[in-house]
Amino acid sequence: MNADIGLASRLQEIDQRTAALEKEIAALPRYIAELERQFGEHQKKFEEGRGSLVANQKERKTLEGTIIDSQQKITRLKDQMLQAKTNEQYKAFQHEIAHFESVISTSEDRILELMEAAETLEAEVKKAEAELAVEKKHVEGQKVRAQERAVADQKAIAEGKARRAGIEKEISPAVLKAYEYVRKKVGANAVCEVVDGTCTGCRLALRPQYFQELKTAQDVRYCENCKRIIYWNPPVAPPA
Ligand SMILES: [Zn+2]
Repeated sequence: MNADIGLASRLQEIDQRTAALEKEIAALPRYIAELERQFGEHQKKFEEGRGSLVANQKERKTLEGTIIDSQQKITRLKDQMLQAKTNEQYKAFQHEIAHFESVISTSEDRILELMEAAETLEAEVKKAEAELAVEKKHVEGQKVRAQERAVADQKAIAEGKARRAGIEKEISPAVLKAYEYVRKKVGANAVCEVVDGTCTGCRLALRPQYFQELKTAQDVRYCENCKRIIYWNPPVAPPA
């Protein structure tokens, strides 16, 4: 194989690797942002649960106050009822007592409901809290890893750049120019093998005459269709 083609292939390898590393570096902050967004959502849900629990306890306390208050009112009303002078007065006291008894009964029912709800809420909040702690640790760990990965990627890119500079000095300027031109046009694969007479870059068949020439060519050849640098590897001979 022509030495320039080998060098162009190495350039291509470095360029492909650099592109992949750059893509990864760009993706890392997005990945971390997504992890943080999810964590924020879970934290918000946890805080909502905790808020519901606080509201539940507050309502229970209010109801307990209402029950005590109603009980005191009933005691007072019963005392006053003893001094009732008419049947109407007596009935009016009875009516008021019944009202506060009903308030107590309703409050007690609601307290039971709240206690049941609180049990579920408490379990949920506790579970969410434990999960959040694990998730937080995971996010922190991923942040450190992403940072380390970005540093390692940058280092690999710099190493590639240095190797590329070395190859640029070795390769013939015309082939380097052709390589850069095609790379700008087609992207990743500017150097392609020809398999069964077909350019693997553009998937078109070479002219049979041109293919025959390529097989024995000592110089660098380009696909007549896509202008990629092409090469042909003779089939490996089966062992004797
Ligand atoms: Zn081609």
